[in-house]
Amino acid sequence: MSLDLDKRQRAMLREMGVRIWQAPPATAVPDVLAAMDSAAVPARPPRAEARFDAELRRPQVAAARAPQPAPTVARAPAAPAAGLEPRPAGIELMAWPALQFAVAGCRACALCTNRKHTVFGVGPHSGQAGEAAPAVDWLVVGEAPGENEDIAGEPFVGQAGKLLDNMLLAIGLQRGNDDAARPGVARNIFITNVLKCRPPANRNPDPTEIAQCEPYLKRQVELLQPKMILALGKFAAQSLLQDSVPEVQKIPLGKLRGQVHRYLGVPVVVSYHPAYLLRSLGDKAKAWDDLCLAMSEFKR
Ligand code: SF4
Repeated sequence: MSLDLDKRQRAMLREMGVRIWQAPPATAVPDVLAAMDSAAVPARPPRAEARFDAELRRPQVAAARAPQPAPTVARAPAAPAAGLEPRPAGIELMAWPALQFAVAGCRACALCTNRKHTVFGVGPHSGQAGEAAPAVDWLVVGEAPGENEDIAGEPFVGQAGKLLDNMLLAIGLQRGNDDAARPGVARNIFITNVLKCRPPANRNPDPTEIAQCEPYLKRQVELLQPKMILALGKFAAQSLLQDSVPEVQKIPLGKLRGQVHRYLGVPVVVSYHPAYLLRSLGDKAKAWDDLCLAMSEFKR
């Protein structure tokens, strides 16, 4: 699959070392192996959620800025284990700032005990309290924060984040926290994870942790109303498709690729997690195919 790329996008791909052929289609897979080594996207300083967490450590200020959650309780929070607290009630009715506030203070699963920061997500102006949900068309959902993300309070930093940024740039998308916007590139994307706190030693997310955190992601989707969701990695795919794909936990990620799924009515394209692609160079071309599929569906 290939995209109808303009001159600027082709120049960007050349800069990344990605080669594009127009025809025949069978040869239209770019060599994205060099994308991970590209210096096209400079390293980003820690930012958005770290600042938001700092706000929350001043409770009287944060409380004044964030609207109070609606009092209606539509779903009872799960009973907390020792040392934990119930998940905040009324997540399904929260506005964007209240949702940020709830995540930053959440102690509903054991991952809260060792985190440095919660990682709510990043998008246009997403680091400031008191705002409505960013207006975006694209949502990227990864699995969970790693060590770098836990420190930065931002998803997809480090080498995996750099690879993701380069691949998004190739289809004209840029995360919204960089100071300088590139001409012709849209900050039209929000990036988050299924889990908002880091699992210790970067282990796989536990099913109970995913279940506890899932209402936050669901509310993010409801408020953002994206037109396309990219699910990166097995746990993101399983979390988003658990209600639409029978026994999705038993299906390999590779078999969820290449088709357009749905989550809350939004098209979902599944692909590999960038951290996996850094270890599995042979699957980068497949990830590029997935991006092309997502862009094609988005345009359609
Ligand atoms: S991972 Fe999710 S449910 Fe667990 S403490 Fe963090 S925000 Fe709360």
